[in-house]
Amino acid sequence: MKLDTSIHAEANRQMTICNACRYCEGLCAVFPAMTRRRTFSDGDLEYLANLCHSCGACYYACQYVPPHEFAVNVPQIFAQLRSESYYRSAWPRTFAPLFQRNGLIIALAATVAIALFIGGFVAMHDPDALFAVHTGPGAFYRLMPHETMVALFGGVFLFAVVAIVISVRTFWRTSGGGTIGLSDLLIAGQATATLRYLDGQRGGCMNEDEQPTDRRRFYHHCTFYGFLLCFASTSLATVLHNLLGWHAPYAWYNPVVLLGVLGGSGLLIGPAGLLRAKQRRDPQVVSSDTRGMEVAFLAMLLLTSASGLLLLVLRATPAMGILLALHLGIVFALFLTFPYGKFVHGFYRYAALIRFARESKLPVAGTAD
Ligand code: SF4
Ligand code: SF4
Repeated sequence: MKLDTSIHAEANRQMTICNACRYCEGLCAVFPAMTRRRTFSDGDLEYLANLCHSCGACYYACQYVPPHEFAVNVPQIFAQLRSESYYRSAWPRTFAPLFQRNGLIIALAATVAIALFIGGFVAMHDPDALFAVHTGPGAFYRLMPHETMVALFGGVFLFAVVAIVISVRTFWRTSGGGTIGLSDLLIAGQATATLRYLDGQRGGCMNEDEQPTDRRRFYHHCTFYGFLLCFASTSLATVLHNLLGWHAPYAWYNPVVLLGVLGGSGLLIGPAGLLRAKQRRDPQVVSSDTRGMEVAFLAMLLLTSASGLLLLVLRATPAMGILLALHLGIVFALFLTFPYGKFVHGFYRYAALIRFARESKLPVAGTAD
């Protein structure tokens, strides 16, 4: 996908109309941020687009939506622009179009490749191990040594972290740069953690029936906190393994397992709910161009949690070897696609909210150019 400057031009046109109208000023963070500007650079527009939570409230409030000749549709143009901003700031840029066009296919292909690699690795070292029953501490590592797993997954995780940090830094600089204060981080953190601007001041996101509901917030929270709990579970397992010499798999009452089950449940409920909520959204307020990327990310999260929970239930059976290979393949693919898919939207939105917190302290006249 090439950088589409027509999207920036169209967003600029609509923001110029909104800036003259200002009817939606109280709905979310986008409009107060908009009123601080008289003109909009590409970076300004990408910043505003990433402040938008796509609730749809301004579309239903607007007297200039199609068929009016002004044809204002802020949620839709901002959805397209957010996708552009991920592409524009992606690192390395060469990978971005590949993943944007074929995100799910690449993720599934990587899953199969890694699962086959693990299966092949086991078959080469001990062909019977794949279908044998392994129990007790270190059972997982009878299929693949812990060091090999760490090298494989540590490598792809590190790559994802570096790629995301570089791309968010590019986005930050493109949208104006500047230093960040601790209070900006905290204010933006609170707005991110509570999804403060998701409801357009109307009690939720607008759907086809034009009734706001708060389902998207609930499912977003299940996904977000589910992910954090799974991350906490993995981090704790790393600490237990390296500092205390306690090797997985752990007993069901171990905090590693409890955090994993809670997080995995959140990652089942959240993505499934978001996929369902996506179907119910008014097609007028979303962008069909970005749907593939969003569905791919949610599908990969669902596969990760489903395979992880299944592995937990069947870990003392002959199915463990195949399930472990499959689960690790899915996790590897998820990490690989992180920097180029919907996952990055959380980081870009947090960066945009930091800028919003930062400039909200300034007098309006002082920031207008
Ligand atoms: S979305 Fe419509 S009503 Fe709201 S500020 Fe823009 S032009 Fe005005
Ligand atoms: S869709 Fe919602 S969050 Fe986005 S600009 Fe409109 S009111 Fe704000």
